[in-house]
Amino acid sequence: MSDKNKIVVIKVGTSSILRAGTDHLALSTLASLVETICSLRATGHDVVLVSSGAVGVGCQRLGVKMRPKEMAKLQAMAAVGQPHLMRHYDTLFHALSQPIAQVLLTADALGTRSGYLNSKATFEELLALGVVPVVNENDTIAVSELRFGDNDTLSALVATLVGADHLFLATDVDALYTSNPNAPPKPGMPPPTAMRVVEDVTQVLTAADGGGSQWGTGGMATKLKAAQLAGAAGIATTIVHAQKPEAIAAVLGGATDVGTTFLPANRRAGGPAVREHKRWLMALPPRGELHLDEGAAAAVRRGATLFAAGLVTGGVVGDFREQDAVRLLDEKGVEIARAVVNYSAEQARQLVGVRSDEMSDKLGYHGPEELASRHNLALLSTE
Ligand code: GLU
Repeated sequence: MSDKNKIVVIKVGTSSILRAGTDHLALSTLASLVETICSLRATGHDVVLVSSGAVGVGCQRLGVKMRPKEMAKLQAMAAVGQPHLMRHYDTLFHALSQPIAQVLLTADALGTRSGYLNSKATFEELLALGVVPVVNENDTIAVSELRFGDNDTLSALVATLVGADHLFLATDVDALYTSNPNAPPKPGMPPPTAMRVVEDVTQVLTAADGGGSQWGTGGMATKLKAAQLAGAAGIATTIVHAQKPEAIAAVLGGATDVGTTFLPANRRAGGPAVREHKRWLMALPPRGELHLDEGAAAAVRRGATLFAAGLVTGGVVGDFREQDAVRLLDEKGVEIARAVVNYSAEQARQLVGVRSDEMSDKLGYHGPEELASRHNLALLSTE
């Protein structure tokens, strides 16, 4: 595959931006990341940087030693940290004559069709102008129940939004390992080895732990979920060490001996308009969960419509409304798809296990037969 003219999204986490045990930014890490981005630009790539750090940098700046728990305090820290972080990015990029832009997104804004298209158009314009957008969640105003929460997820949605070819998650480990490389060796167990290429992220997703660093909110589990989301939109994801950003150019050039690359799911049938609709669907903040029985999960994986008869007892979680996005989970609890539903959570609870021809009786009116049409369903996994 040619490594020319790709759209590349790079996400860097808080643990890589702050120098552990000190009161300052990891300047050398940031500088080499900036240099890498500028050299990617020089070889014809468009780059979007998704940078965490607002909260962590804000805490550092104010000498706060522990990440606060209350939302208002976190939002205040982010308001302090975000401009400080951007000042350093601008200085570093400016030294290499690279203009940058700050883009602060909210799940709320991306959750509407017009907000989504608006953000997409802004990114396209910035990239056409040769600018590197530096993206974060708008932590200061995002409302708790409507947050992306972690920038791994945000970066996958940004990659989807800009139609990226590749997503890189730059972090404090250099790869995904078969077992925890920092844990003491267990007798009789094989030593941890780096996984270089993962064909199907869903296979490793269930085995992942959810741990993150003190300052960031991500861990390996959120990275795998991000890879799953990006993969469903046809985008490859690679985990690289933030202190070795040169791996990014190597992977774009075809190297398979650095980082861990998650291959994208096969592009589903359908023209560009269908794919674009499903990409949008995946960017919608999910407001609930539907747990499916084995048959319904298998049907959804084949791209079929979802009927209420396929819900398991107690399988409606959350308080979503009609036309909200929800997660669809299989009988093992693995998320397999996102869907925009025709019924609210309350109605869906009434409809659990109900056949299509009995629905009108239950509801007291004649509504759509399907809980979610296959056109409003985006698959995350085919296994
Ligand atoms: N948006 C948060 C921040 O800038 C980071 C979220 C995350 O750690 O993934 O502090």
